[in-house]
Amino acid sequence: MKPIEMVDLKSQYKKIKSEIDTSIQNVIDNTAFINGPQVKEFQKELEDYLNVKHVIPCGNGTDALQIAMMGLGLQPGDEVITADFTFAATVEVIALLKLTPVLVDVEADTFNIDIEALKKAITPKTKAIVPVHLFGQCANMEAVLEVAKDHNLYVIEDTAQAIGADYTFSDGTTKKAGTIGNVGTTSFFPSKNLGCYGDGGAIFTNDDELAHKLRGIVNHGMYRRYYHDEVGVNSRLDSIQAVVLSAKLPHLDSYCNARRKAAEYYNKAFSNTDKIITPSTSAFSTHVFHQYTLRLIDVDRDALHKHLIDNNIPCAIYYPVPLHSQKAYADERYNEADFIVTNQLVESVISLPMHTELEEEQQDFITKTVLDFINK
Ligand SMILES: *Cc1c(COP(=O)(O)O)cnc(C)c1O
Repeated sequence: MKPIEMVDLKSQYKKIKSEIDTSIQNVIDNTAFINGPQVKEFQKELEDYLNVKHVIPCGNGTDALQIAMMGLGLQPGDEVITADFTFAATVEVIALLKLTPVLVDVEADTFNIDIEALKKAITPKTKAIVPVHLFGQCANMEAVLEVAKDHNLYVIEDTAQAIGADYTFSDGTTKKAGTIGNVGTTSFFPSKNLGCYGDGGAIFTNDDELAHKLRGIVNHGMYRRYYHDEVGVNSRLDSIQAVVLSAKLPHLDSYCNARRKAAEYYNKAFSNTDKIITPSTSAFSTHVFHQYTLRLIDVDRDALHKHLIDNNIPCAIYYPVPLHSQKAYADERYNEADFIVTNQLVESVISLPMHTELEEEQQDFITKTVLDFINK
């Protein structure tokens, strides 16, 4: 059996090696490392794939969130609501911009923002909602859009974990994750579903005016060379990352399918125990399984974690601490009674190896090792 990896980027690379190697060599031969034509080409390809008017490439997924908030003109003191159960980047940029983060609880079954908690958190100062499509499936966007419309709020989708997921509205129309709100952001961190070979990110929007503004902000607030109309940042996708992404984008749907197939295999193996709750899929979103995350019932999660590691099965706790309890983001405004679900999830979740190259032999070993432990 091949050694099990949490994410097997090596085997994935081997399958597209000649294309990747040739296109990277091409960038080096032409030395247009920054703002080369390859970045525009990838931008266009991603616009077509997502069916969105504008893709603005940038340096990483965290920058993408920050730049989106800058582009929308959010001001210090504005409240921005996001989920308590997510990677810290989402809340970090809110705090960095001196906006006020408002964390709310999530749904136990989808791990995504709880709509009732969201409604409860709205105040006259609320300006934006950041739904995070956690682990690869969309938050309840129809409900989020309705709340946003009622209160005149911006919606910024954090699509770092869900690029490629399809959202279906109740009228049957579908949109790609990240193209539903005012603006969407993603990360091309190597282990993400569409990952490059370094850092990368992008912002998506159908709003022409906002897109223009964002293109300036990523480039020092310049709309004309050396004329700085506003305070911007330096955040770029480089040409080498762009060619890696162009080589991988045509495979994204098959990558998502491979992840779904691996998830089904796990689901089946775990279907006969009531100590494991396998990931649920909502009716309105496809799941692209950035992570395959189990909830455990009456199982010593940390002992299982250790048991798997001891058996050379990489696995991880996403996430072990709710954001409202992190030192950097703790705030006396928060009340533990408002985070019942997140507080339970951080104690009971475990994510198993999930990538495009998982083999049944590996999955058999993983599931057998998990089941042996919980049934002993
Ligand atoms: C990875 C991730 C980010 C940050 O992306 P980087 O490219 O690492 O900056 C933001 N939000 C979520 C939910 C993520 O998973």
